[in-house]
Amino acid sequence: MQYEKADESIRNLVENYRSGELILSPSFQRGYVWNIKQATKLIESILLSIPLPSIYLYETESNSDKTIREVIDGKQRLTTVIYFVLGKSLFKSSKKFKLVSKYAELNGKTFQDLTNEQKKKICATKIRTTEIPSNIPPEIKYTLFERVNVGSVPLNAQEVRNCVSRGSLNDWLNSTAQSALCDRLMGNVDQVTRMERQETLLKLCYLSAEWNGMGQMPVSSKTKLDAYMRLHANHTEKDLEGTFKAVTNALKRVLTTIGEVPFYHRSRGFDQRALVATTAWFNANKDLVLTNGLGDRIRESFEEAKADRDFRSPAIQVKTAIILEYLDSCLDHNPKRLDPNRRYSRAFGEQLFNSSKDKCCAICNNKILNFDDCDVDHRTPWALGGRTDEANAQLTHNRCNRQKGTKESFNA
Ligand SMILES: [Zn+2]
Repeated sequence: MQYEKADESIRNLVENYRSGELILSPSFQRGYVWNIKQATKLIESILLSIPLPSIYLYETESNSDKTIREVIDGKQRLTTVIYFVLGKSLFKSSKKFKLVSKYAELNGKTFQDLTNEQKKKICATKIRTTEIPSNIPPEIKYTLFERVNVGSVPLNAQEVRNCVSRGSLNDWLNSTAQSALCDRLMGNVDQVTRMERQETLLKLCYLSAEWNGMGQMPVSSKTKLDAYMRLHANHTEKDLEGTFKAVTNALKRVLTTIGEVPFYHRSRGFDQRALVATTAWFNANKDLVLTNGLGDRIRESFEEAKADRDFRSPAIQVKTAIILEYLDSCLDHNPKRLDPNRRYSRAFGEQLFNSSKDKCCAICNNKILNFDDCDVDHRTPWALGGRTDEANAQLTHNRCNRQKGTKESFNA
């Protein structure tokens, strides 16, 4: 396939931006992430005639006579130079973008402060642009977006989905991600900048179709989410209305029953895994009448789940299983109670260790020298239905088991 390549002047790109024909931040792009040093370096490079890497633009379908292009790759560079020329603010702290340069003739200057010579130089500089037409088949578009983004800021899975599977589903994900409901439950906008909210909503749509509360909750893997998004890309809002309502209602019930605070996460803004598991549980139990008493019990159970070691497991199935186990324990019609025997006791471990001849770690195959370095691990994980009995027990090093992420250690 042939893509149009051209050398475009910065003047032209600035004009295109001004007239709305060049979109710097389509919703799939993350925000501006450069710091002032990186931004200054780019302007210096232009003034020093160092060739710039090429940028990728995507021609969007549009009803008007204008050709509207979105930046797929090269957003940081284009934003820097266009904002500099227009004297716009790039950073939260400063009003206008002023260079912070080791060259005295550039340091502290805005575009307006430069000499006419320097201004002309910047405006006349050409950047190689590659344009991707809007009519390419979706499958090709998909791989293309993934490949193009090999630069410094590769798109993550959700950002790729957002540009290859446009349509009602994607529109809903984007608009709902900005709703007050998501503002409360899904972290603050400074921390959550890579479409994590959209991804959370997509997982909930997927789970609402795939899981009715019985058996293990499926893991919403990248492959499954990609397929779900492709499958529904061309469906209308009316087709998807039921799913959208179910997800929104479940989120509202989470908010009123448990609140947003228990889902806060210091570094990631919010605990996506916990929120997905909990919301999917509410969705699967949509007929539940949330009396005050039951609401309190659910909230307490969620707090207990949070205090459980397995809640911090990096294995998503373990974490999900523990949340569902605690939430299920609130249901009167569900006789299932928390399994008190989901860990091997220390006494059992000691007995197994002492009776073992080779005392060999099932993970690294090296000898376990003494009992204090030892753990008993489920061969089939408890979260996957493995029982806590002798047949399913294996000796491991404490450290090896912890690295595996199951956090079942009694010697922790
Ligand atoms: Zn080991």
